[in-house]
Amino acid sequence: MTSEPILSQATEDRAFADLDSYQALAAKQQPTWLDTEALASAKSELASQPPLVFAGEVDQLRERLAQAARGEAFLLQGGDCAETFAGATADQIRDRVKTLLQMAVVLTYGASMPVIKVGRMAGQFAKPRSSDTETRGELTLPAYRGDVVNGYDFTPESRTADPQRLVRGYHMAASTLNLVRAFTQGGFADLRQVHEWNKGFVSNPANRRYESLAAEIDRAVRFMIACGADFSELRRTEFFVSHEALLLDYERPLTRIDSRTSLPYGTSGHFLWIGERTRELDGAHVEFLSKLRNPIGVKLGPTSTVDDALRLIDKLDPEREPGRLTFITRMGAGKIRDVLPGLLQGVKDSGALPLWVTDPMHGNGITTPTGYKTRRFDDVMDELKGFFESHREVGTFPGGIHIELTGDDVTECLGGSENIDEATLGTKYESLCDPRLNHMQSLELAFQVAEELKLAR
Ligand code: PEP
Ligand code: MN
Repeated sequence: MTSEPILSQATEDRAFADLDSYQALAAKQQPTWLDTEALASAKSELASQPPLVFAGEVDQLRERLAQAARGEAFLLQGGDCAETFAGATADQIRDRVKTLLQMAVVLTYGASMPVIKVGRMAGQFAKPRSSDTETRGELTLPAYRGDVVNGYDFTPESRTADPQRLVRGYHMAASTLNLVRAFTQGGFADLRQVHEWNKGFVSNPANRRYESLAAEIDRAVRFMIACGADFSELRRTEFFVSHEALLLDYERPLTRIDSRTSLPYGTSGHFLWIGERTRELDGAHVEFLSKLRNPIGVKLGPTSTVDDALRLIDKLDPEREPGRLTFITRMGAGKIRDVLPGLLQGVKDSGALPLWVTDPMHGNGITTPTGYKTRRFDDVMDELKGFFESHREVGTFPGGIHIELTGDDVTECLGGSENIDEATLGTKYESLCDPRLNHMQSLELAFQVAEELKLAR
């Protein structure tokens, strides 16, 4: 991946041939590309582009996640359900990064533990759907599969899968990542700016609480500076990006063989995960990701068994390398206390040490009588509590949270101290896919998680 001519063409060809074993297996949730010539040309264009992330960064994240697996750090992963091309604006990206930085400060300060920050950003463009088609009135069209595949508008033109969107997705991811890197490396994420991150958001109880925490941090930092401490390290913060590696026609062309190790790295994002709907052991996604060197996540829903988990470990993490594999459980508030402890115990007994993360969003979806897809903040919090309780019960480490959120002031999830109710949902509902916590609900959640995390230390 560097310009050193270490990697011979033959080595590279061999590595790619091995990587392509997935092509013999069934891949669920892929679009039907009608124009195969356009698809081939989009894929070769992607293959010729520079990587978005680099092997060294990916290795760094794997080490950080290993710390979390061992109980020495905590993962905060969050962002949109589905990023959109129209939503990749400077303001929206900045506010999402600010929200994650604020949550990370709340968690770090509350639990005195390093927090690994990972955005669901710069590539979270493809969505699995429960049905291949959508019908409105007389008209049936392909389902919307995310901006990297087709358009949301309900017309035959817009819903046709367009391979040029793969290339556009890459460029959107590049400009998003460019901004994320600027915000997190250029002084904006400096801990001495804790107050700044709170500016521009509508005043609410959660950010007033944040303000007083920021004042405490400020005082502590100023005290340390007065004592002569060197804070130049605090100017930058590590920030990684992740997405569901759903669309193999995007992921495969963005894979590069690292010249140092001759191993394949997915360069579309640092952390890639496999969704609940594509995690079959004999499916193309598990096969493909088993070959990548990136840290890999797998979502586990409420029907997951110990056997499923153990076989996924054998396939994706045969060396039992801490940091390699993250299980992201999404059970639902009503089920987590029944299902999770058994799963944790079975995996613990096997001697494996995956990182366990909770996604308290995807098991708690409801649809209101008025037709909005939503989630109750209380259910989200209840699943989070169930996650911490289950780990306490089994003696394993609750290593992180995976949240759908935005820095915007949307009204997509019910409840929180602002008490968004069904009548309010329609006022600012913008998600094209799943409902996200707004800025205030995200901060509120972080304060509550910090309390739980204190008990887990
Ligand atoms: C998602 O993370 O947006 C998603 C579709 O999740 P899951 O695979 O858990 O259903
Ligand atoms: Mn989602």
